[in-house]
Amino acid sequence: MRKVVKFGGSSLASAEQFIKVGNIIRADRERVFVVPSAPGKRFDGDTKVTDMLYACYALAESGVDFGDELNAIKERYQEIIDGLHLELTLDAEFETIKRNFEEKAGKNYAASRGEYLNGIIMANYLGYEFIDAAEVIFFGENGEFDAALTDQVLSDRLAKCRGAVIPGFYGAYADGRVKTFSRGGSDVTGSIVAKAVRADVYENWTDVSGVLIADPRVVENPEVIDTITYRELRELSYMGFTVLHEDAIFPVRQRGIPINIRNTNCPEDSGTWIVGSTCQKSKYIITGIAGKKGFCAINIEKDMMNAEIGFGRRVLQSFEENGISFEHVPSGIDTMTVFVHQDEFMHKEQKVVAGLHRLASPDSIDIESDLALIAVVGRGMKSTRGTAARIFAALAHANVNVKMIDQGSSELNVIIGVRDEDFETAIRALYDIFVIAQL
Ligand code: ASP
Repeated sequence: MRKVVKFGGSSLASAEQFIKVGNIIRADRERVFVVPSAPGKRFDGDTKVTDMLYACYALAESGVDFGDELNAIKERYQEIIDGLHLELTLDAEFETIKRNFEEKAGKNYAASRGEYLNGIIMANYLGYEFIDAAEVIFFGENGEFDAALTDQVLSDRLAKCRGAVIPGFYGAYADGRVKTFSRGGSDVTGSIVAKAVRADVYENWTDVSGVLIADPRVVENPEVIDTITYRELRELSYMGFTVLHEDAIFPVRQRGIPINIRNTNCPEDSGTWIVGSTCQKSKYIITGIAGKKGFCAINIEKDMMNAEIGFGRRVLQSFEENGISFEHVPSGIDTMTVFVHQDEFMHKEQKVVAGLHRLASPDSIDIESDLALIAVVGRGMKSTRGTAARIFAALAHANVNVKMIDQGSSELNVIIGVRDEDFETAIRALYDIFVIAQL
């Protein structure tokens, strides 16, 4: 068995955290490939090293002295090195970074140093080989991640390795220029490495004991999900779940490698398993509840709309022409409603409306704002009768008016539209009926 282990910023924010990570890795000989993030926040109000690097480089770019800021970053690493009693100095590395900042090596290069330096420390601490991600993770000229080249180079490079640290978050163009993934991208690196070595599991260590059934800012102490499928997680992530970087699912999913979300501060917790498919029934009918506020509904009415071939296409064309993607399109006999993100739509509202008049000649258009969408997701719904009834009974009980209902034919999720102000009440009511009431 070979495991790829990725540790997030809070797991590596201090020497104390590094020691926990070291213990986790040493406790299991199969944990051979390690992907670290940059040091994150040590306490509330602290600054992540990645953010310090962005700020420091902004000064360098505008020609302002950045010595103090760079020193503050160096101190963050020195504190870790001292706390671990390592015989390691990053002086030469910081000289190079200073020079490259002066030569304006770019924002991507700057941000990537957080992971790069943490990787050097981690490799030294574990006695593992350090492999610079810029030599094994590639981007094409258009900035797209080059999966084929990366997979080949990385699997060749790691084939003979008995223990390696590959820093997360970045790679390089063919000419060696560093490029980062979007924020939180170390999750993606971990997944790419797991795919390349055909790992048995991709362990993603963070500061929570797994994926929670609902947002803890809305529901008090929500339970952890034991097992969730990639597809379920995709549905929930789209609706605001933020456990993993969205793109982290794809590489491992291609090879059916499970992801295990674990807590560095409670390593004895088994965490959440994210898998391709499973015969494991989820503990409850639903697997998770997520949602987002800030949607708009554009209600379009036209008599005999149902008989007019091409009406739907013409309606959607107006959104397409204005570069707006739609979320859901529930329809009736003489009405069609288009749900869009309010912030995307707001500035183009009148253009879209003019387009609708021009293209579809509706009888009336009515816009409703401040709506929220809630997704109730679960593979268990497919085989269970009465799920919809329970959802709506719970919402009616909580005095929440349902504006829209959409159930995909996969029966994996039910999407419900409510007013923004009812969002929290609705989620709590759903959690109560599907989780609390089942305990
Ligand atoms: N350090 C980067 C960030 O803060 C990447 C990561 O942690 O995954 O976004």
